[in-house]
Amino acid sequence: MREELFADRVQPDTPSRLEGLFPQMDFDDAITFTAGSPAEDLFPKEAMQQAYLDAIAAEGAHTFQYHTISGPEELRSRLAVRAQQKMAIEGVDADNVMLTAGGQQGIDLIAKLMLNKGDGLVVEAPTYVGALSSFDMYEPTYYEVQLESDGMDVDQLEETLKAHNNIKLVYTVADFHNPGGVTMSVEKRKRLVELANEYDFMILEDTPYRDLRYVGESLPSIKHFDTEDRVIFLSSFSKILMPTLRLGWMVAPKAVIKQLYKLKEAADLEVPNITASAVNQFLAKNDLDKHIEGLIKAYSGKRQAMFDALAKEMPEGVEATCPEGGFFTWVTVPDFINTTDLLYDVVTPKAHIAYVPSKNFYAFKDHTNGMRINFTGLTPDQIADGMHRLGGVLKEEMSK
Ligand code: PMP
Repeated sequence: MREELFADRVQPDTPSRLEGLFPQMDFDDAITFTAGSPAEDLFPKEAMQQAYLDAIAAEGAHTFQYHTISGPEELRSRLAVRAQQKMAIEGVDADNVMLTAGGQQGIDLIAKLMLNKGDGLVVEAPTYVGALSSFDMYEPTYYEVQLESDGMDVDQLEETLKAHNNIKLVYTVADFHNPGGVTMSVEKRKRLVELANEYDFMILEDTPYRDLRYVGESLPSIKHFDTEDRVIFLSSFSKILMPTLRLGWMVAPKAVIKQLYKLKEAADLEVPNITASAVNQFLAKNDLDKHIEGLIKAYSGKRQAMFDALAKEMPEGVEATCPEGGFFTWVTVPDFINTTDLLYDVVTPKAHIAYVPSKNFYAFKDHTNGMRINFTGLTPDQIADGMHRLGGVLKEEMSK
């Protein structure tokens, strides 16, 4: 067929944002820092298996039937309670909670709801690559705002808002940023909401890592400060239970959810009932917070191993963020090093390791001296070994 028959948004010659993020490695001693995946040995396998059985036992053949677009009310009620208790989001009930096919579908549906071609969309620089791949489909005008050690540069955001009156949506990963590793301060959360009220835009607070805090106190969500129904809070079970559930959830104004259901209906009719019912059973019979405590314990050790290895192995002039939670640290190298070229030409073929190079995390793919490094998918020994190899390559490159 002729590619001209495809819609403009497809752009057949442009690779997917997620394609070729990092090289494949089939070396025996390969160590990969690329993953955004939770550690498999921490999945609650037996409890989830039991939850599926319980769901089927409770509903019989009806489990496998079409259900409603909104999914089980009991699950949405549990999540509304969780939003109040853990995220400090007050005054919400089951009808403020929408279930989605992973957080990813939440991002996609919100973009579809809000963005006409050319509408202004603010993203952090860097930002979550999967969000960019959704956003691209709606052909927005991107505005990048620098990510700082305490979250997005809200002064730069205000300048951008003053200069462009087409901005409808600001997308932020406020807790344990993917890929940046940083967390937005309380002051910036408040200021962001004030700016939304003043300049009339919506905020998408995407926070799948929020429960995975290894040090320090949990901060109120941005949604907590929302005074004019401008914040959509988005979460997911992928990082704290299992990604294969493909179950995300958001807390949003009812009027927003009403419109989003039209879009979800068009996309996939409903949340798979067996998944939603099984997760509901899981939450009824297990202590989710206790499970999360186990994850925190395991991931804290890996985080410490990563900090120790970075301190020991990285040459002067290489900087890393210091995440208080989540999965990633962001490493910046001197700007004469292009981390994509370095990865494909040297790091993977010679040192048998891989990271995700920075250019993938920028709307305009124009930032070339950073790398996203995952610390949750490996053992402390692998982290030490892998960072030793990376440090060796960087020392060599930087002394050329
Ligand atoms: N947002 C962020 C910041 C993520 O890192 C991810 C997964 N890597 C998602 C959303 C989507 O995750 P899921 O669809 O599995 O919930």
